[in-house]
Amino acid sequence: MGSSAAYFLKKKAGKSLDVVVIEKDCTYRKASTALSSGCIRQQFTIPQNIMMSRFTVEFLRLFKKDIDPDIDPNLTCNGVLTLTNEEGAENMKKCAGLQKELGVNVELLTADALKSKFPWIRTDAVALAAFGCVNEGWFDPWALMMGLRRKAQSLGARYVEGEVTDFIFKSTGGEYDAIDEVVFRTADSKQHGIKFNQCILAAGAYSGDIARKAAIGTKSGLLSAPLSIEPRKRYVYVIKSQGDNIPPLTAPLVIDTSKAYFRRDGTAGNFICGRSPPKDNEPSTDNLDVDMDFFETNIWPQLAYRIPAFESLKVVGSWAGFYEFNKFDCNGVLGKHPAYDNFYIMAGYSGHGIQKIPAVGRGIAELIVDGGFKTIDLSLLGFDRVVENKPLVELALV
Ligand SMILES: Cc1cc2nc3c(=O)[nH]c(=O)nc-3n(C[C@H](O)[C@H](O)[C@H](O)COP(=O)(O)OP(=O)(O)OC[C@H]3O[C@@H](n4cnc5c(N)ncnc54)[C@H](O)[C@@H]3O)c2cc1C
Repeated sequence: MGSSAAYFLKKKAGKSLDVVVIEKDCTYRKASTALSSGCIRQQFTIPQNIMMSRFTVEFLRLFKKDIDPDIDPNLTCNGVLTLTNEEGAENMKKCAGLQKELGVNVELLTADALKSKFPWIRTDAVALAAFGCVNEGWFDPWALMMGLRRKAQSLGARYVEGEVTDFIFKSTGGEYDAIDEVVFRTADSKQHGIKFNQCILAAGAYSGDIARKAAIGTKSGLLSAPLSIEPRKRYVYVIKSQGDNIPPLTAPLVIDTSKAYFRRDGTAGNFICGRSPPKDNEPSTDNLDVDMDFFETNIWPQLAYRIPAFESLKVVGSWAGFYEFNKFDCNGVLGKHPAYDNFYIMAGYSGHGIQKIPAVGRGIAELIVDGGFKTIDLSLLGFDRVVENKPLVELALV
């Protein structure tokens, strides 16, 4: 998100704007982006969520031309297929109706239609399926991030490796002090400060912590509402199967009735898969260790039931990453904080953020350089909804 903002700001404002990205780990080893599954879909119900994903597809198609000829984001539009049982069927129909009105190419399939289109799926207990077959699938998140970073740098954005630890305020004489300077620590334990004209908070899963340093959620009035973004650990397993009737190279990303998902990963027969843990049993976020028992008990049985070829799978790799989970409403926050003239937030997409990165980068650049949204009106993502306690409900979250 930070590199997307840096790129679009430099693209828009050129040399007239000095852009500095402060990044605590330039290897991005633990960044959500580097650890993402890279799924992109249009099957949302908030028009802005659809428009943002749509822009990302356009952006990725032009990536080699506009961003970096040496980096291929590997956009694979095999579609996204979501299965539901009786309980979820009404909601699926409602979402598909809304999506069609918004121009999304989504097809509803009965169990029989599903079986004839995708014969490798066992359709037991599937009441309905939604197949998004245009501009849906997955891409390589690492390529997106590296391309944006390199392009931003080539346009003059500077990257500093350091951990943001604090902000320095100055009195305005009004109700709220202004934020004047960001404080960060480099690897040699030295403290540094940068005074800024505008600051964007885009620290992924740690954005809630950093917002508190900016007094957000710690005072009264407009500063009383917290930015409730926190890390939530999610596992990704790489699997391979020797079974018969394996989902082919053209198979879509599948989200099972159990919410376990899988998709092809490259052409060597690997798949990646995962599933969110139960709400009351979130794993510890002290580390990025992978729980293999979670796969054995919560994913494999579901996948093997749904895809008979996965009964004989083996796990060939795994990793864990942190969702930047917005406890308030699972949607992103984008825009200026209402208590400040110079402090913007760009975080909290809670597991559907990778597909928003180009659009939110462009949006924040429009806010800062043009003074308002010019392409997609993203005002409804502003922090005002948090202050007013009006959650933004996206019906089509996985
Ligand atoms: C396992 C997994 C699967 C996912 N799958 C999907 C998917 O299929 N589709 C989808 O749309 N989204 C998915 N997501 C979500 C998506 O990856 C995120 O929404 C997106 O990457 C968030 O980008 P970001 O830039 O906000 O966060 P990050 O990529 O985490 O970047 C934040 C950066 O801030 C830096 N930082 C943090 N604190 C500080 C500090 N104090 N000082 C300086 N720098 C700091 C970090 O080092 C990091 O590089 C997934 C996420 C995970 C973990």
